Amino acid sequence: MSNDILILAEHLNGKLADITNEMAGQARQLAGALGGQAVAVLLGSGAQALAESIGSDRVLYIDDPALAEFNPEAYARVLAAVVAQRQPRVVMLANSSVGMDLAAGLAVTTGLPLIAYVNALSAEDGRIVATSQIYGGKILAEAVPAGEACLVTCLAGAFRPEAGRAAAAVERIASPAPLDGLKVQFVRLIEPEAGDVDITQQALLVSIGRGIGGAENIELAQELAEALGTVVSASRPVTDAGWLPKTRQVGKSGLTVKPKVYLAFGISGAPEHLEGMRGAELIVAVNTDPKAPIFDVAHYGATCDILDLLPALTERVKSDT
Ligand SMILES: Cc1cc2nc3c(=O)[nH]c(=O)nc-3n(C[C@H](O)[C@H](O)[C@H](O)COP(=O)(O)OP(=O)(O)OC[C@H]3O[C@@H](n4cnc5c(N)ncnc54)[C@H](O)[C@@H]3O)c2cc1C
Repeated sequence: MSNDILILAEHLNGKLADITNEMAGQARQLAGALGGQAVAVLLGSGAQALAESIGSDRVLYIDDPALAEFNPEAYARVLAAVVAQRQPRVVMLANSSVGMDLAAGLAVTTGLPLIAYVNALSAEDGRIVATSQIYGGKILAEAVPAGEACLVTCLAGAFRPEAGRAAAAVERIASPAPLDGLKVQFVRLIEPEAGDVDITQQALLVSIGRGIGGAENIELAQELAEALGTVVSASRPVTDAGWLPKTRQVGKSGLTVKPKVYLAFGISGAPEHLEGMRGAELIVAVNTDPKAPIFDVAHYGATCDILDLLPALTERVKSDT
């Protein structure tokens, strides 16, 4: 076994997902502590430039037309072969839909334990220690894998990205596993419909969660957003209930936003929500529960009832402008 840390690079439509360089940064630190290298694995076709933009020590770029788009069956085959050949100490995947598609199956084929929802990773006395968020982020659990190697799926935004640092070496190789006879075929990518407002382009967002209580209270948030010259975004329960359109949803199964200011009203801070907003420059959270996990990422927080606060804030903003 090596002391290398393997990262699966994620990309879509010719763009590297932010989590890739976040994992690269953490992998470099961990590999440094263990005396190994951070090695990113990028699966694609004609994606040399992407491979060169990953900030790991090395990149294995596996170039095959069957890997042009994400295909869970093809990815699983290739990754299992890479892990068997390279015997890394840790395999890092994103806790994304791609990572979740692959990680459990990979744990079975490689026989390695899997630790999910990881937001911290270190080496202590040569052992790997991973912290994972459970119960929607309400509890943190430290896990030490049985055996020396493991797989982890990492939460977006948990690690500082290795931005703008080119990989030291890109090694372009043919697929180490046969990619013929795949039962899963990529057909087409369905882009979300445009329309409504684009919450990813706003410098300030008034975001509401289930704490808003019901459709009848949405206008309290809309009035504040209007007074501030912006729009309302939301957590998933709000869009699932139909109180706001799906285009306003922030998070894993919604949109990723990076506004200058994110006002989170009545949002608990589940990992799936944090994934979409923790890149905001300033986060202000208001929640009646002082133990809500949103306060772990908020720069400023208040514990009060948003149904009282929202109209009072609107009035104050209007009187100041
Ligand atoms: C595969 C998957 C994908 C998902 N994708 C997403 C996603 O994209 N986006 C997303 O948001 N979630 C997503 N979720 C759901 C996620 O796990 C949480 O369930 C969700 O984020 C919780 O939303 P919430 O914080 O609004 O609600 P809750 O967790 O119910 O929190 C409501 C909060 O409001 C507070 N509150 C209640 N009343 C008041 C009041 N009057 N004043 C102030 N505070 C109050 C409560 O204390 C509580 O903390 C996903 C889940 C899965 C499994």
